Formats: sequence, C-alpha cells, structure tokens
Amino acid sequence: MMGGNGFLWVWRFAVLLQLIGGVLGWGKEGHYATCKIAEEYLTEDAKAAVKRLLPDYAGGDLASLCSWPDEIRFHYHWSGALHYVDTPDFKCNYEYCRDCHDSSGHKDMCVTGAIYNYTRQLEAVGNSYAITNYNLTEALLFLSHFVGDVHQPLHVGFTGDLGGNTIIVRWYRRKTNLHHVWDTMIIDSALKTFYQSDLSQMIQTIQRNITDGWSNDVPSWGECASNETVCPDPYASESIKLACKYAYRNATPGSTLTDDYFLSRLPIVEKRIAQAGVRLAAILNQVFDSPKQTAHE
Ligand SMILES: [Zn+2]
Ligand SMILES: [Zn+2]
Repeated sequence: MMGGNGFLWVWRFAVLLQLIGGVLGWGKEGHYATCKIAEEYLTEDAKAAVKRLLPDYAGGDLASLCSWPDEIRFHYHWSGALHYVDTPDFKCNYEYCRDCHDSSGHKDMCVTGAIYNYTRQLEAVGNSYAITNYNLTEALLFLSHFVGDVHQPLHVGFTGDLGGNTIIVRWYRRKTNLHHVWDTMIIDSALKTFYQSDLSQMIQTIQRNITDGWSNDVPSWGECASNETVCPDPYASESIKLACKYAYRNATPGSTLTDDYFLSRLPIVEKRIAQAGVRLAAILNQVFDSPKQTAHE
C-alpha cells in the first residue's frame, strides 16, 4: 500500500468513491420531481397522513426530503443495496427470486424488496398497531425514494457493470459513467437546454404530459394486478427492458454521447419520472385511505 503502490491505491480509492457516489439513485432533481408529481395526486387523507409523518422542518413538502436516503447512506450502511436490483449480465428481464438480494446473497435486500417492506410497515399504521417498532417517518421517506429509484432504468441494470457505473463514457465533453448519465446528466442537460435551469418548469411540463400526452395510459400506471397495494416487480421489469433498449444501446465503454443519445433518451427519463410519481401517489393513497384504517380511527 506504500511507496510505488501509493498512487495505485489512491487511484483505486478514487474509483471506489466514484462507484459509491454513482450507484445510489436518480440525482436530487429526479427524486424531487418524482415526489413533487406524487404530491399532486395524493388524496386529502393521504396528504394529511404524509404531513403528520414528515418532520416539521419539511413544511409538509414530501419532495424536499425525497433524497434523504442518499444522504444517510453511509450512516445506514445496510441501506446501500436497497437502491437498486441488478440482473445477471445481458439478461434483459428481471425476476424477484433470482435478482433481489444484496452482494452477499441476503434475500429481499434490493429496491423491490425494500418497496414491499416499507409499504408493509406503513400499512401497519392502517391496521392500527398503536405501538409499532417501525420508524414510520423513515419508512415513508425510504418508500418515496425507492419508488423513484426502481424507475431509473439503470437501477435495474447488469450486475457485471454495476448498473452502468463501470462503463466510462463522455457526456458531451465531460468524462463520466453511464449510470451517472441516467441519474443526473440527462436531467441536468434538459434543465439547461429546455427549461432555463428551472426544475419547476420541467416538472410542469411532465405534469402537462400526464394530463395530455399520456392521459390514456396514466390510469393503468397506478394499478396493480389482483388488488395488491404495491407491485414493484413490473416496474423493475420495465426498467431493465428500457436499460437494454435505450441506456446500454450505443453507449459502449469509451463512447461519446451527444445530441442523438440525449434527445432520444430524454423522453424516456421524463416518462419514468411521471410514472414513478403517479405510482408513488397510488401506493400512498392505498396505504392511507384503506378501509382498515378508517375503521380503526
Ligand atoms: Zn437511491
Ligand atoms: Zn443511481
């Protein structure tokens, strides 16, 4: 580790930091947008329940805390694996039993497992467990964040390249990795190019698409088969398909991604943010509006 190896070690450490930094979610903007869109679709009961669970300093705004799980990821070491689920290399499908585990093989330690888990914890309130060991504020923030993450196509990417983290590319002139392009760079470039660097304008545009362009599909987004409260598995399946079809395609190591890639992928990113928002709202509405809850309140 010393002398001649010092440089190598520093280099490895830098790479490691880059990997850790990139592996964990849409960037702040993506999560903020997802949660902001969800807020629009909450019922009055759900809105009130969310407000009750949020700390006072959030001022009732869920979106302001949707990146919290990224901020505490070093403190809550166990939570790192919960931000994504990777599939075997070059498999463009997802299976819960095969794929949902952390790198040591612990079952259910992945983003879809986490979405199930935190939804169940929040439902425990609905079932009126007056005394619960769960921290429901954390459950709400984790759930809101992970519903965003599972919609980022490269959060359901291949194991071998860590969901695109080891694929070094150029985003225009800047050197970065493919995962980071999808977490952050596409959104950043869109903000600069189309929205005067104003995230609220981007959110408004996505909202307008929900009520106009995508309006025929939107009702089905929030539905689960057989009346489950939550169904993250189809969302993960969609993500790996989009990863194969759009994220990995024409983005081999060393390639330079510019307008062609940006302009054809941006609509995917915007639609995934919309779907995540609509679905998060549907989950929270179900959790907090369930008859079970009203019967006990
Ligand atoms: Zn994340
Ligand atoms: Zn990420």
